[in-house]
Amino acid sequence: MYDVLVVGSANADLTVRVERRPGAGETVLGTDLVESAGGKGANQAAAAARLGGRTALLARVGGDAFGELLLSAQREAGTDVAPVIVDEAARTGTAMIIVSPDGDNSIVVSPGANAALTPRDVAAAKDVIAASSVVSLQLEIPMESVRAAAATAEDAGTRVVLNPSPAPETLAPELLAVADPLVVNEHEARQLSGLTDGKPGEWAHALRDKGARSVVVTLGGDGALVLDASGAHEVPGVKVRAVDTTGAGDAFTGALATRLARGDALPEAARFAVRVGAAAVTKPGAQPSYPTLEELDQLPG
Ligand code: ADP
Repeated sequence: MYDVLVVGSANADLTVRVERRPGAGETVLGTDLVESAGGKGANQAAAAARLGGRTALLARVGGDAFGELLLSAQREAGTDVAPVIVDEAARTGTAMIIVSPDGDNSIVVSPGANAALTPRDVAAAKDVIAASSVVSLQLEIPMESVRAAAATAEDAGTRVVLNPSPAPETLAPELLAVADPLVVNEHEARQLSGLTDGKPGEWAHALRDKGARSVVVTLGGDGALVLDASGAHEVPGVKVRAVDTTGAGDAFTGALATRLARGDALPEAARFAVRVGAAAVTKPGAQPSYPTLEELDQLPG
């Protein structure tokens, strides 16, 4: 039924730029508020759908204007939002983002409806999970719901792409054991491998030794490193002028999931995803920066 079913979060990103971050008890003036669609789950779904993957999103939003904003962004990208639950009792998840002139972000997330996505919601979507080629998971919803989705996918023979972000201290062994691949950035790779220094290849091997079936470490402008049964593969980065790296990792993961669903081997899918991540950093914002296949063709390299 779907190439990719994303089970995850949806947030309204509310961004204000400031001259300097306020200290405790202080008020500063900022620019006009910019509202945009975000949340790791919603970002990955939008990325997959814009690239032409048959994509659906299982998430919860509130019955408010932000929920509407998120749903219309998904529809525009081409995602099937039929599994999205509009929760009249909750507010849509919100990320309040303060950007200072050096480009550093301070972010406060109010999970809202995301915190109410339960294992029961996942159980109700069992048939959709079974009818999807790939289920893509992140960690911005309750951990027991992520585990339920992973277990349901495993039982149904649906491939699991797991992006353990935001990075937890440790990851349950049964979650790691279904990740094929585990997609981590350098920070997450270091944290979850337990290796404070070393190289991406060593982190990837350590994560595979801990049980992941395959591992992809994304390396920002340097591309990605893939480790699967066929060995380690370096995927070089694509040189672009980076304008805004917000949501680049989510663009990468959504693209990777789409290609895996279509039958690509992991290194091949990662090469495609590196190009999609690079395209995403050439434009501001997360979802608004995600390319279509036509736009991806315009990318040099
Ligand atoms: P995250 O956004 O999760 O921290 P990364 O920074 O590793 O993840 O970026 C994910 C992907 O986005 C990279 O593998 C690459 O494809 C692309 N990317 C990120 N930063 C750049 C950059 N400066 N130039 C080109 N591509 C980039």
